[in-house]
Amino acid sequence: MADRIQLLPDNIANQIAAGEVIQRPASAVKELLENAVDAGATEIKLLVNDAGKALIQVIDNGVGMSETDARMCFERHATSKIQNINDLFHIRTMGFRGEALASIAAVAQVEMRTKRDQDEAGTCIEIENSVVVKQSPVAMVTGTSIAMKNLFFNVPARRNFLKSNPVELRHIVDEFIRVALAFPHIFFSLTNNGQQLFHLDAGSLKQRITQILGSGYAAKVVPVKEETDYLNIHGFIGKPETAKKTRGDQYFFVNNRFIKSPYLNHAVMSAYQDMIPADSFPMYVLFIDLDPAQVDVNVHPTKQEIKFEDEKIVYAFVQAAVKHALAQFSITPSLEFDL
Ligand code: ADP
Ligand code: MG
Repeated sequence: MADRIQLLPDNIANQIAAGEVIQRPASAVKELLENAVDAGATEIKLLVNDAGKALIQVIDNGVGMSETDARMCFERHATSKIQNINDLFHIRTMGFRGEALASIAAVAQVEMRTKRDQDEAGTCIEIENSVVVKQSPVAMVTGTSIAMKNLFFNVPARRNFLKSNPVELRHIVDEFIRVALAFPHIFFSLTNNGQQLFHLDAGSLKQRITQILGSGYAAKVVPVKEETDYLNIHGFIGKPETAKKTRGDQYFFVNNRFIKSPYLNHAVMSAYQDMIPADSFPMYVLFIDLDPAQVDVNVHPTKQEIKFEDEKIVYAFVQAAVKHALAQFSITPSLEFDL
């Protein structure tokens, strides 16, 4: 019998791999916003059309790329952020897998313009099915603009799985908010079909929270701030009166990365104990910062699930910090401290 195994062509392999990273417009939005943050941008604009199905464009004023890097960045496993496996445990950037742009280039029509400060001209590059179809110099200011059109144009089965525009836009807004909350010192805007949905001037975390979650929170949040040798926590928690019947406004960030953690959520909830009705959820925006060696962020392609080296310590710390914050604002009558 003849041999049957063959290597898949790069563009097919990329399309398959893209399935893990880019499931819907919002996943691409997350990757592009994080790249802009990693590039040191102070202004990041997100433009979408038809909830990202027709167009997703991110324009930043970050460091930009050289002509060669502008081609390289679309290769799989191409990254400037790590060089070896040990770097994974010192990671300070949002990205490191070098897969996002390769995935995007495999499932959308991409046009990127980028320029570094030291270069006279920028580079404009167009990619389709993972292949560069055009490249030329372009006059522009320092930074990067990436536009991806017609997501999944070449993977009809995937395109058919996309939900209605309002649903996909909701997912985009969720990802946008998570990044915007984590970096209040960066200006962000979001426009859909020419209509501006967010315009977030740079400012403090409290300002960012009220810009996004509503000005009503200004008088209804309590600051949290605790520092130990092992970890720091800061942010804001809602007074008990902010508790709602829906889980909505609850955000955890570990080293500035939004994470989903039922375990840590439980730590916060337990600190409120009898102060809020059962089945209601207080607002919180909490940042935990610790040595990157103490967390593994590489357990899931989207990096929203992470593993702590010592989960119990983090739990106890979060619970104590929230109790302490509530107590300081004399919101609770009786308390025991764990730390
Ligand atoms: P990762 O972010 O994991 O490194 P990506 O595929 O998202 O992988 O990006 C590949 C590389 O392209 C990055 O490491 C970075 O060097 C470069 N890059 C991507 N987006 C930008 C940007 N907006 N500005 C400057 N460089 C960028
Ligand atoms: Mg990236």
